[in-house]
Amino acid sequence: MDTQTLTSTNYTNTYLDTRGVVAPGSGPTFTEAIVKGIAPGGGLFVPQILPRLTLDELAALAPLSYPELASYIYKRFGVDMPSGTVDELMGKAYNTNFDHEAVAPVRTLEPNTHVLELWHGPTSAFKDMALQCLPVFFSAAVDQLRAQKNPQAQEDFLILVATSGDTGKAALEGFANREHTNIIVFYPDGGVSDIQLKQMVTQLGDNVGVFGVRGNFDDCQTAVKGVFANEDFNAKLASTHHLRLSSANSINWGRLLPQVVYYVSAYLQLVKRGELLCGNPLDICVPTGNFGNILAAWYAKELGVPIEMLFCASNDNRVLTDFINTGTYDITDRPFILTPSPSMDILVSSNLERQLFELTGRNSEAICTYMNKLRDERRFTIDRETFAALRAQFSADWVSANESLTTIREVFEAHNYLIDPHTAVSWKVAERLRGQNPVLVVSTAHWAKFGTDVYRALAGIEVGAELPAELADLTGAALNEFVAENWNVGKTVGRAGGKAAGEAGSRASGKAGGEGAEKAPDKTAGAAAIPSRLASLDTAPVRFTEVIDGSAQAVEQAVLDWLES
Ligand SMILES: *Cc1c(COP(=O)(O)O)cnc(C)c1O
Repeated sequence: MDTQTLTSTNYTNTYLDTRGVVAPGSGPTFTEAIVKGIAPGGGLFVPQILPRLTLDELAALAPLSYPELASYIYKRFGVDMPSGTVDELMGKAYNTNFDHEAVAPVRTLEPNTHVLELWHGPTSAFKDMALQCLPVFFSAAVDQLRAQKNPQAQEDFLILVATSGDTGKAALEGFANREHTNIIVFYPDGGVSDIQLKQMVTQLGDNVGVFGVRGNFDDCQTAVKGVFANEDFNAKLASTHHLRLSSANSINWGRLLPQVVYYVSAYLQLVKRGELLCGNPLDICVPTGNFGNILAAWYAKELGVPIEMLFCASNDNRVLTDFINTGTYDITDRPFILTPSPSMDILVSSNLERQLFELTGRNSEAICTYMNKLRDERRFTIDRETFAALRAQFSADWVSANESLTTIREVFEAHNYLIDPHTAVSWKVAERLRGQNPVLVVSTAHWAKFGTDVYRALAGIEVGAELPAELADLTGAALNEFVAENWNVGKTVGRAGGKAAGEAGSRASGKAGGEGAEKAPDKTAGAAAIPSRLASLDTAPVRFTEVIDGSAQAVEQAVLDWLES
């Protein structure tokens, strides 16, 4: 296809902020917005112009490869980079670093039930979809801004990340050895999965650091936020180390925009395979934490992808489900609950602010009121019109920890397709909320990242109950191998009966027995094979072991020590 005919992409978008601090028209461009991360005044950047594709234009994008599509969407959003540069950077971002040609393939498990697999990147969770892309653009943005003598980019950048597990590794992998950037990740000591920990502490690269923090994720995040807020420390970094702080979490628009692309890609894959007629509606169910992923689906809808309803799926930390059902966001008295889907264990969803900005018709006064109330009273209620707008496009439900594990087992037994606990939440909520439309269930992690809970699910062991003694020493890759072998993951089709999983669970060292029909791996093969980068973790050398106190001071000291070492 001749993409030239479609390229009505020749403009530069600028960015507004959700709190109304930046005067319209005088806001930053894309490159400035991504190196800044957060907007002045504490708000978030959104593009002033939201582009709109016609159905014809959308249909014409079907033949494009994933990086070509990403490039096209970026240009439609008016990024301030030369067309050829965008093409080249997308070619780097989405390449052999993903283990599937489609990058984010859609699998059809039953008629009108499709699964969007977002875990084919290097760290096996969906954060790679954005964090293989943002760092490439970040370095190029610094180069470009420097060439333009822009004062925002005269120093190099130090990216600080507080992570509950997936973001940290994905950010390390994306920024490792990337020009003009350094990255230090802080994780709660004892608060991440075994695989997640190994992934982080074995990270290669000269510009990376990793520290455990005593306390939970909130302590860790508060400490890191304190460092961003400390002006003296920022001044010292600039004067002695020529570094500026920046952020790689989903408050950065450079992480949102890449996520819009896979929703366009998913719709077009379904059209190409004849599962959907171009123009027919699709509902999307997203396992939600910080509201980034589902917000990207909303922007894809605004862009013109025929998406009808957005299903917001929560775990026990169901603040968003309650919000969508009542119009009140309330974290007074809401306990933080640890679940098998830790990346959704979040009570303050930072990207909801962007969604509310859009649903209020970009009313920054209303956003300031809501956000100040949330800070001061720990709750706010949206007005009636905004609530109606929300209800017209979103519905929500939540799934308990044990239900999520039961769902893993049900889906495996029905489809011989193994899903992780986050995806299980999405699957179950889609089952409950779906109507007539086909549904796209968003799958955010490979099961092998959460092997212990997947084992519990298959063996029918409840959350919190003890694991069999013979498994006590099995962790990480070894446990995953055990699961894959004992349940013939990806090797058999149509295991008969509902109790096979429980039986297999007690065969600690044995083979899975003969009841599953041996067949060549079919459509489940991609999900079944344990990604090689997870499989080799047990033997990778550990580079980082330091654990620090959960205070801004301790984080600052760790940063200085790391810079001077
Ligand atoms: C981050 C993450 C989520 C939540 O995504 P948000 O964009 O924060 O809503 C869900 N599942 C997995 C596996 C994740 O890593």
